[in-house]
Amino acid sequence: MPCRLGCGACCIAPSISSSIPGMPNGKKAGDRCINLSDENLCKIFGRTDRPKVCEDFKASKDACGETNQQAMEIIAYWESVTG
Ligand code: SF4
Ligand code: SF4
Repeated sequence: MPCRLGCGACCIAPSISSSIPGMPNGKKAGDRCINLSDENLCKIFGRTDRPKVCEDFKASKDACGETNQQAMEIIAYWESVTG
């Protein structure tokens, strides 16, 4: 499925352990990535310093559900069982 642009759940719900531009220690689950715009778009999309984990994350029904709220819930759940 294509990403629902403006959702942003995968930039908020998960923890990211690798360094992110502007967040050298990564981020905790539930924290908003500093690179996420007010429109919930990645401000460093396409840049070579965008974390690999972000590059590798592909939208899928399993992760993103049917709505932005569902994506938040699903990814937060994954985080709670794997984090
Ligand atoms: S959770 Fe899925 S739909 Fe939402 S921004 Fe990330 S990839 Fe796109
Ligand atoms: S760097 Fe971009 S894609 Fe990665 S979590 Fe931050 S806003 Fe999302």
